[in-house]
Amino acid sequence: MTAPNIGFISLGCPKALVDSERILTKLRADGYTISPTYKDADLVVVNTCGFIDAAVEESLDSIGEALAENGRVIVTGCLGAREDEIRARHPQVLKVTGAHAIDEVVASVHEHLPPRHDPFTSLLPPQGIKLTPNHYAYLKISEGCNHRCTFCIIPSMRGDLVSRPIDEVMVEAMRLADAGVKELLVVSQDTSAYGLDLKYQPRFWRGRSIQTRFYDLAEAMGDLGIWVRMHYVYPYPHVDDVIPLMAEGKILPYLDIPFQHANSRILKLMKRPAASQNNLERIRAWREVCPDITLRSTFIVGFPGETEQEFEELLDFLDEAQLDRVGCFAYSPVKGAVANDLPDSIPEEIKQDRLARFMERQSEISAGRLQQRIGNIETVLVDEVVEEGAVARSQSDAPEIDGLVFIDGATHLKVGEFVSVEIEEADEHDLWAHLA
Ligand code: SF4
Repeated sequence: MTAPNIGFISLGCPKALVDSERILTKLRADGYTISPTYKDADLVVVNTCGFIDAAVEESLDSIGEALAENGRVIVTGCLGAREDEIRARHPQVLKVTGAHAIDEVVASVHEHLPPRHDPFTSLLPPQGIKLTPNHYAYLKISEGCNHRCTFCIIPSMRGDLVSRPIDEVMVEAMRLADAGVKELLVVSQDTSAYGLDLKYQPRFWRGRSIQTRFYDLAEAMGDLGIWVRMHYVYPYPHVDDVIPLMAEGKILPYLDIPFQHANSRILKLMKRPAASQNNLERIRAWREVCPDITLRSTFIVGFPGETEQEFEELLDFLDEAQLDRVGCFAYSPVKGAVANDLPDSIPEEIKQDRLARFMERQSEISAGRLQQRIGNIETVLVDEVVEEGAVARSQSDAPEIDGLVFIDGATHLKVGEFVSVEIEEADEHDLWAHLA
């Protein structure tokens, strides 16, 4: 008896990826198999993204492709909040759910393709199904967001902050570590707000009471003995407390902290969390406590009303802040976002010009920061072994978004291995090294 077969497409950010992993884990536990092609699948689940208009289009196209090739499609994810739009283009989809609706998706799969009992297919690895390589994993600690940044529609799609109790998160973290994961990437919409909705509820973990809050989580995860990387942290004062844990080597000296702008008027127009903080001072203080800290950030240029002077203030901020890794977007309106109603939208050619000037300034800074690491002995984690050698990442590099460390000739290394290397060359993004 063959098991019912599910095709799966996962679009969007790491938070959506974690939802996909949970859905797949449940489906595998219920005896479904996962098909790499639409044609062999009995039904296809599409986990969509709705962050910007391009992502919406990609999601709608993927649904169309799945319908054309397979015909039986369940849609979930952020774009699911806009069911009318999906049904207007693709009326024949079987079901539409919003983001984070794991049980609803699984129930809908059961309804349209009932599971068959087979004791072998329900044998699951304890860490569940992962879409990432075996040696790293994303760990989602909360869902939703209490902020209302004017350019973002995530809260309307994913709702307000809902944190997972800390003991539940730690059980998952430990399971992943026991299964051989070497690096955990902590994700959420606002990691620094973790536990606020639960009033920092205390829970028992390894015989002691710890609170459901950012610091306690960082400290508890620091005891796992693997790399722990914090994403989507906002510059609230309490973030300062975790920097000593980075200096002690308990968690990675790495902060992914989306500043979005440097000018206080624009930050207020954006309604950014912690908009009134003096970020430059904060960065200085962090580097004093933890000189090796890597700072990654993202910015938006050409936000409605941004003057040339305010943009230049942003360039000055880059010079002062000396951030290691930076992503930048030209502002683009997202359907349903409050910022669309702001006056003085910036003409496209000015936006693109500012984006180019921003990137030019930052790539010099990033290149300079990487040059300073030549001669360092650093620990790296091997991601891939190819014909020419090993491809690894340093503590400063998150998968997919940051740089790589190439170790020419080191084909004997194993994926997921930590090795010590000496950095010998750098460009503005990647490093080259040999085994130390
Ligand atoms: S903090 Fe702002 S940008 Fe981030 S998810 Fe919340 S509303 Fe959106």
